[in-house]
Amino acid sequence: MSDADSGGSSSSNSNIERGGDSDEAVAAGRDGRGLRESAEADPESFWARQAEEGLEWFEPFDAVLEWDRPFARWFVGGTTNACYNAVDRHQHERADKPAIIWEAEDGNQRRTISYGDLFVDVQRFANVLKSLGVRSGDRVTICLPMVPELAVAMLACARIGAVHTVIFSGFSAASIRERVSDSGSQVVITADGGYRRGRVIELKKTIDEALSGLGSVRHVVVLQRTRHEIAMSGPRDKFWDDLVGAAPDACPAVPLESSHPLFILYTSGTTGKPKGVLHGTGGYLTHVHSTFGWAFGAGDNDVYFCTADIGWVTGHSYVVYGPLMHGITSVMYEGAPDHPGPSRMWQLIRDHAVTIFYTTPTLLRMLMRFDGPGEGRGRHGGPSGLDTLRLLGTVGEPINPEVWRWYHERVGRGRCPVIDTWWQTETGGMLISPLPAIEDTIPKPGSAARPVPGVEIDVLDDEGNPIPVGTKGQLVVRKPWPGMLMTLWGDDARYKEAYWKRYPGLYHPGDYARIDEDGYVWLLGRADDVLKVAGHRIGTAELEGCVVSHDAVAESAVCGVPDEVRGQSIVVFAVPRSGVPEAGHDRLASEIVKKIRSEVGSIATPGAVYVVPRLPKTRSGKIMRRLLKSLAVGGEVGDTSTLEDADVIGEIRRLLLSQKP
Ligand code: ATP
Ligand code: MG
Repeated sequence: MSDADSGGSSSSNSNIERGGDSDEAVAAGRDGRGLRESAEADPESFWARQAEEGLEWFEPFDAVLEWDRPFARWFVGGTTNACYNAVDRHQHERADKPAIIWEAEDGNQRRTISYGDLFVDVQRFANVLKSLGVRSGDRVTICLPMVPELAVAMLACARIGAVHTVIFSGFSAASIRERVSDSGSQVVITADGGYRRGRVIELKKTIDEALSGLGSVRHVVVLQRTRHEIAMSGPRDKFWDDLVGAAPDACPAVPLESSHPLFILYTSGTTGKPKGVLHGTGGYLTHVHSTFGWAFGAGDNDVYFCTADIGWVTGHSYVVYGPLMHGITSVMYEGAPDHPGPSRMWQLIRDHAVTIFYTTPTLLRMLMRFDGPGEGRGRHGGPSGLDTLRLLGTVGEPINPEVWRWYHERVGRGRCPVIDTWWQTETGGMLISPLPAIEDTIPKPGSAARPVPGVEIDVLDDEGNPIPVGTKGQLVVRKPWPGMLMTLWGDDARYKEAYWKRYPGLYHPGDYARIDEDGYVWLLGRADDVLKVAGHRIGTAELEGCVVSHDAVAESAVCGVPDEVRGQSIVVFAVPRSGVPEAGHDRLASEIVKKIRSEVGSIATPGAVYVVPRLPKTRSGKIMRRLLKSLAVGGEVGDTSTLEDADVIGEIRRLLLSQKP
């Protein structure tokens, strides 16, 4: 760090008063060992130093942490503002620097929004919110496609202390309604429509359906993106441009106590009813600022591209707050990652000279399908000409070693570090990841390496006992960390129950992991995805890893179905790589069985293997094993509102009927 002695003191950390000295202080340097040592010696002073050096504070904090288990308040008494840290702080040095380079799905439209533009836009829109009666602490629902106004709306909320609750714009009316109503939002910000694979998505129509009869919503602000014909219902609905046109220019950022709520974000719903994860301000921002710097180390020459939709936590932390707090240039892409073809991502990287690419294993597996084995690779949509890249990252699911290697070799040409970052909506930012900006990590494909400095994790058995090195168990976090959720919105009891009950005093994320002899963490999938076959616990992630390591398999999902004799019987779904003929599917299925028997063991012999064209996924790209399980037993699939494309259900159901063993 640039100033190793500044930590701990509570009287000098108001750097806004001092005129802002953070620009040189944020550069992390490459002193990973020093950081780890000071974090181990005294985690609270360590985080205090990150907060002081990384953020701008109006008033210094008096206490680093108030820990009223399991409720944490970080940097108590300090006042700060997320929008100020993302936008205002750059106005002296970076007003002309591009903050967001946006590209429309059709590729014909591009916009560059500088830090100076952002400063103008957020102030105007903050005044719009005020004119609609929004006050500090009020919730505002934002449901917009991937356009820069989505970031502007969030920052404008943060500027005046309103709590944003962003809902991914692909959700169904019922899911939107549930979230709007749970958060108690009186204002909803949306658009006439958005584009997805060249088609207009009727967003306003969906919002109207979602809000019908929901009297609590007083205002709907409508951004015109597609400019197609929509119904406006006055006086509730108003156009974004009209409101902004009439709004005054200046709106100062309000100093907010560090624990002031910044946002509610509902978890993706892979496993059922969504939870309203509530994040605060100072702690969350400190965590995101620090981890963004340690992982990506982005500087003025970087162009950063994170493919996540802002509707997911990755978009909040590492599309909006992280990169903006660091004053770097990001690429924001509006549409489907494979539209109009599988080389869309590669084209964006080339055209914008992207240096850092952060995406998901799911997207990588999809892209890998088009980079067939052998001769002529790359000609049909595989990666090429990506010379500007220097760093690659993934998040969201375990990345199997084959995909990791493909990413490293084919996308990064063997020269870019690959960082597998483990974290959750609830953790706010990365908890486990290689951190190439501060230390070199010898890569182990498939492992997320070590916890970030200041975060202490462990792996325990079901009773909470420590387990031998290399053994699989439940991941826990031993101490509070600044990015941790404050609670679940309006439901402290569910917060305690969901995360703190299983291992009293420890945070329980619900993932399986093992820690090897070098201290590397291997994430082994969700604990709720573990199968119990003839008394043995087998992780779906482990089996899927084995299936995907078959040359002809692009993707796989494994689930368990009830079995009278063995408890559960394993069902494998496999998506072949492009170019594998249908006539070869039976052979592929029997090869998969052989492979599992030899690599995992005969105990894991699948009861059925289905070769399917694709898998049911949430819009954040996660496989919905719950649905596959229902399909495999021929049952009803239940709630499918978080599904990316509902057609896949009928497709798989037909296939299962025709292949029933
Ligand atoms: P829900 O909680 O509603 O089921 P979700 O857990 O999918 O939704 P997120 O918070 O977006 O919602 O995802 C966090 C989860 O994603 C983690 O608990 C873990 O299971 C998985 N995950 C994220 N990153 C990684 C990673 N690098 N390696 C392995 N798993 C990961
Ligand atoms: Mg989760």
